[in-house]
Amino acid sequence: MIRTLVLGRSVEERPICAYVRGDSARKTVLVLGGFHGDEPKSVRLSLRFVELLRGASQAAAPGRWVVIPLVNPDGLVRRKRRNARGVDLNRNFPTKDFAPGSPRSRMFGGSVPASEPETRAVLTAVRRFRPGAIVTIHSIGAGRFCNNFDGPARALAQAMARRNGYPVRGSIGYPTPGSFGTWAGREHLIPTVTLELPSHHSTSRCVRDNLDAVLCAGQWVTRRHGDAAGLP
Ligand SMILES: [Zn+2]
Repeated sequence: MIRTLVLGRSVEERPICAYVRGDSARKTVLVLGGFHGDEPKSVRLSLRFVELLRGASQAAAPGRWVVIPLVNPDGLVRRKRRNARGVDLNRNFPTKDFAPGSPRSRMFGGSVPASEPETRAVLTAVRRFRPGAIVTIHSIGAGRFCNNFDGPARALAQAMARRNGYPVRGSIGYPTPGSFGTWAGREHLIPTVTLELPSHHSTSRCVRDNLDAVLCAGQWVTRRHGDAAGLP
């Protein structure tokens, strides 16, 4: 049984939806896609993952799952990285290193932290569901695809790497002030993996290579927290 709920609305009033499977007694994995509107592969993988959950037994997909396939619906409509107000949502989180940058930059963080309704919808989801692990899906060029971990998530990134074959990295290689990974992983110590899909691979290949990698986060979180009921 998968429930759908609306967490909030975008600048242009598009709904930001979460698909929830499982009850609150189980440790929760939060999966996010579509932070950047020009990374539709992340949305497709997230939606395919929801379909996988629909068909999977609790034993096959342990834990509670909360999937938000499209954080930035206005950006996706425009095929642009930023939201409708020109803010990079993955620089808009209330971190210690928040820095707005230039409004002309494609990584503009917004005038103040959490200025954007899409950011606040994600914050609402984390506070409401209190995930034990987070997988946030993006895509990247120039061969920099990886399982990038923030906070206590190296082991999760390594488990995912055994399934998708991508390198494990503790840094993406450039500063990301105000990023979701910094906020959730480094500052709130929620194990967080930013799954950077190879933008040069087809969508179908990205899906094929990563469904198991995302799924293993459920086993990881239930084992880590000793929820034996969730083990296969
Ligand atoms: Zn991205």
